[in-house]
Amino acid sequence: MRLVILGGGESGIGTAILGKKKGYDVFVSDFGKIKGNYKEVLSLNSIPWEEEKHTEDLILNADVVMKSPGIPDKSPIVKKLVEKGVSVMSEIEFAAPFTNATIIGITGSNGKTTTTMLTYHLLKSAGVNVGLGGNIGKSFAWQVADNKFDYYVLELSSFQLDGVFNFKPHIAIITNISPDHLDRYEYKYENYIDSKFRITMNQTEEDYLIYDADDEAISNWLTTHQTKAKLIPFSLTKTFNEGAYIIQNKMEIKINREDFSMDTEHIALEGKHNMKNAMAATSVAKLMQIRKATIRESLSNFQGVEHRLEKVLKIQNIQYINDSKATNVNATFFALDSMNAPTVWIVGGVDKGNDYNELMSLVREKVKAIVCLGVDNKKIIDAFGNVVDMMVEVTSMSDAVRMAQRLSEKGDTVLLSPACASFDLFESYEDRGKQFKQAVKSL
Ligand code: ADP
Repeated sequence: MRLVILGGGESGIGTAILGKKKGYDVFVSDFGKIKGNYKEVLSLNSIPWEEEKHTEDLILNADVVMKSPGIPDKSPIVKKLVEKGVSVMSEIEFAAPFTNATIIGITGSNGKTTTTMLTYHLLKSAGVNVGLGGNIGKSFAWQVADNKFDYYVLELSSFQLDGVFNFKPHIAIITNISPDHLDRYEYKYENYIDSKFRITMNQTEEDYLIYDADDEAISNWLTTHQTKAKLIPFSLTKTFNEGAYIIQNKMEIKINREDFSMDTEHIALEGKHNMKNAMAATSVAKLMQIRKATIRESLSNFQGVEHRLEKVLKIQNIQYINDSKATNVNATFFALDSMNAPTVWIVGGVDKGNDYNELMSLVREKVKAIVCLGVDNKKIIDAFGNVVDMMVEVTSMSDAVRMAQRLSEKGDTVLLSPACASFDLFESYEDRGKQFKQAVKSL
């Protein structure tokens, strides 16, 4: 059987290793460059590869193709494969049949990484033999080849879900859905929503779907479509006989006729959105019957993930917060919502079609000054120019932080939550967040 892998990144190399181990005739092809350390791994395992081209003769003879989630379906080589009837799948689809481990799959527009890391932390702290993969860290396929985990917690993007056909997580989470990446979905929001729900399409009555019941797109889909999975909703406003909710500053989880309750002030993560993430992750822990004391301890010591509402430093009683991962309006909405001091807001970058109106009332209420950090700030200035008293434009992170310091006073918060992608001035959101932290430290 010939396995061709398009894309020599983490998921591609992991799939190549697993395929080789399972006896496939493996070939890796990348239209860009493959990183040096990955090339070494391929050579060590005698796996042939090419870079900066796709040689059709070596690709179109595949029996099965694993495509990196970054490669769109409309790329010419993928189109040719599909026309020939070759099955093109994602790493998750390829690797899942080679493990008997129970899979917990987590998708959504925002909160995937936080919920995945927290779920992993809850299980790992309870002594479960669990692996972490998908969009995060080491490739899932690579771990299936090298490790023997009983459980996997997988972060799944919509692109990865587009390439699954038989994949069936025992527990699925959809954190929320808001418009994103529509360029890959023919600009149709419903296509993107359908893609997220592929996470549940093969689930049976034995499986679970945990979801945000406050989310309109999710609720609408569930009223018009079928899933066999048992539903476990979570909500900030409603209560359930079976599900998770917040009432009188307590998080309540009711699952399998058992109750778990915890004061939200003892949960280390902050902000309403993080209460949602905590409800989703704790529901998994309850389904797996992890002891209450262990869950409590893990929720109270989980410090969050870098670049997600990360508290950096307090300088002259001004709190600096790094939320560089907020690359869309919805993420920034929850960041502003969780501010409880007058805020100097650093915003801007590459706008993916933002509607800033959604932030208007929060900005009125919480933001005293705006620092625009982008090449083109026109939309932000048009939206908020009349709403805040102070607004400045800068083109480097060090200027942004210095300016924010000047505009703030004792008791304020300086928040980097850009609502935009980073590629105009930075390499990535990680680079942007690191530069922010560095600039704060050198104040
Ligand atoms: P993802 O992996 O889906 O991008 P992250 O956990 O990395 O999600 O968070 C991305 C951004 O969204 C961060 O700015 C974070 O503060 C914000 N965020 C986290 N959880 C939620 C949520 N449940 N709803 C809305 N925004 C969220």
